[in-house]
Amino acid sequence: MEREVTDILESYVRDAWWAPDAGASSVAVLDASTGEVVTHVSTSGIDLAGALDHARTVGQASLGALTFHQRALLLKEFAVALTARKEELYELSKRAGATVRDSLNDVDGGIGVLFTYASKGRRELPNAQVYLDGPVEPLAKDGSFLGRHVYSRLPGVAVQINAFNFPMWGALEKFAPAFLAGVPSLVKPATPTAYIAEAWVRILVKTGRLPAGSLQLVSGPVPGLFDHLGLGDLVGFTGSASTAAGLREQAAPGVRFTSETDSINASVLGPDALPGTPEFDAYIKQLLVELTTKAGQKCTAIRRAIVPSAAVDAVVDALRGKIAERVVVGDPHAEGVTMGPLVSREQRDEVLRAVAALQESGGRVVVGSTDAPDVLRADGTTGPAPDGAFVAPMVLAFDGDAAALPDAVHDVEAFGPVASLLPYRSVDEAADLVGRGGGSLVTSVATADPSVAATLLARTAAYNGRLLFLDRDDAPTSTGHGAPVPHLVHGGPGRAGGGEELGGIRAVLHHMQRTAVQGSPAMLTALTGVWHQGAASRSDKHPFRKPLAELRIGDQFASPLRAVTLDDIETFAHFTGDLFYAHMDEEAAAANPFFPGRVAHGYLLVSWAAGLFVDPAPGPVLANYGLENLRFVTPVSPGDEVRVVLTAKQITPRETDEYGEVRWDAVLLNQRDEIVATYDVLTLVAKTWDEVDAGRPASRPSEAAEVGA
Ligand code: NAP
Repeated sequence: MEREVTDILESYVRDAWWAPDAGASSVAVLDASTGEVVTHVSTSGIDLAGALDHARTVGQASLGALTFHQRALLLKEFAVALTARKEELYELSKRAGATVRDSLNDVDGGIGVLFTYASKGRRELPNAQVYLDGPVEPLAKDGSFLGRHVYSRLPGVAVQINAFNFPMWGALEKFAPAFLAGVPSLVKPATPTAYIAEAWVRILVKTGRLPAGSLQLVSGPVPGLFDHLGLGDLVGFTGSASTAAGLREQAAPGVRFTSETDSINASVLGPDALPGTPEFDAYIKQLLVELTTKAGQKCTAIRRAIVPSAAVDAVVDALRGKIAERVVVGDPHAEGVTMGPLVSREQRDEVLRAVAALQESGGRVVVGSTDAPDVLRADGTTGPAPDGAFVAPMVLAFDGDAAALPDAVHDVEAFGPVASLLPYRSVDEAADLVGRGGGSLVTSVATADPSVAATLLARTAAYNGRLLFLDRDDAPTSTGHGAPVPHLVHGGPGRAGGGEELGGIRAVLHHMQRTAVQGSPAMLTALTGVWHQGAASRSDKHPFRKPLAELRIGDQFASPLRAVTLDDIETFAHFTGDLFYAHMDEEAAAANPFFPGRVAHGYLLVSWAAGLFVDPAPGPVLANYGLENLRFVTPVSPGDEVRVVLTAKQITPRETDEYGEVRWDAVLLNQRDEIVATYDVLTLVAKTWDEVDAGRPASRPSEAAEVGA
């Protein structure tokens, strides 16, 4: 790194780097391979109450001045800054035992989370500060009283307590949604890898783009922190179930406490996935990856391999072969090492204790050994490394009836390169075994048989946050059993912590309060920035002639009526080839319960609506990129007439372009003013437009890909 890790790791509080006074008591953090001191951790004398106060005042204010899109763009800048320096982060992570391949999960995974939220934030959230949830609920017959749900950000601090195994990804998967929601973060990394968290925070600080108070880092213990938390604050904990249980009790009522804890995840080899099938090969490959990536220190790693009894020997043989062929245990600084040490010698001892407990309950070590392995050292020599935290990958086999297997296999988490092998005789038995984990983050199933998959889905989904079905088609592209993706739920029921708040926009909404808001159309329009049916409208000039600088929600165009003839219907039918009987056969159409006789095509009406509302000359409306929520309500017969009312409903200027999105409320009516169809028209509109020159927008949309983005 640009800055060497120093004697005492600094914290970042109140927008400044902070270190305890010299001589403060501290904890040494050691290199996982060599036992050398990397740094010391201490927060002796830190003002945690002041840090929380800073977040609630300065952090809330600076984030509150930004829209979702502006925050999303900052996340992208952070991702770019980290990408530029990821090699340094890889190097630093080696000291914690991570190989470069491991860092692809942690460092690149963390950066990927930022990019994903940067993109999702701009695609799935409005360029605003509140988020509207679900449709409008009409609450009075005449439309004068409406209700809808509005999400607004929590007023407090997101305290993020992270586990040691993913100092970047694990932290950023919480920071990104909190930031996007507009809630300041106080990050508390785990001691053994706190120096990696300090490094990424330092890179973000260096960008000069962190809004004041939006991110603070406490590099060490946080005694008394919970005493200062209350309504409006959140705690997002990742770590062991026992720590979670203790902290949950300390959280005051009103504090949103969520936990992602340990999990005895399962991976089922389907009865059809016998040796020789692509599913068997994919299963073995995945088992190897899960055993050895991060030396098995992944909350999502496979702890229980559940396989047909007849396939147990084949699985053991195949895995042994793969380990012999592929796995080189050693110091990640040495060329060729594929599996590093555990994070610390304490963690190694913990894992060996867990293995001993599994052995006592009947497990036989059938792959690997509990002996300290010879390892490849940084200097290229091979031999013992007593100061390092090395263990060999291990599999313990359990025999006997599935129902009689000891509780320990479903209960004891050996947080290292260790898995148990459990035999089953029927798919139902396999499902029972999965469920005995008491709630897991993930279960994977290798099968090409949809009936096996359907049974396991029905029987085990309630016990899992995520299910991965692996077959020959998705095996090459699957993101893998152990890799949560920022788009999908990360968390799990029961023992896994009960969380499902991480992953996708739901993670952002978790940092916000959903409130039902009731009022008149005019009031809801004013409060939400989205036009509601029944609110005032304005028809001074065709809205297609207005650039974003001029366009306001409520700007409206109402067309004249247009007659519908049988000739029109026939022409459209033959032109498009849509000769469906409801348009072409009077008798058959009349026999249909929904139509009085031949009716106009819905798509003809929508096309006519466009013809009725467009203003055709070049203008600020650049493109139509879709329709949403289209509903045909009343059939239209020859002899009827139709007209359209188009109203600007929501205006979302893009931060980085000279145009933005406009959502139009479209209502198609007949001559009796009955609603024929309703939908939203989605367009891109220039921010400025020079009518005199029939000029072009200041900058044209550069990429076709941006349309519809
Ligand atoms: P841990 O010992 O429970 O520690 C987790 C975090 O809690 C650390 O930052 C730790 O800080 C902090 N902590 C401990 N006592 C605290 C207290 N009294 N007040 C405030 N913070 C406190 O877990 P770990 O050893 O770091 O991580 C390994 C475990 O995490 C495994 O069981 C693994 O399954 C689980 N895990 C789960 C997930 C998931 O998403 N479900 C992800 C990763 C890991 P110190 O280090 O400074 O004590």
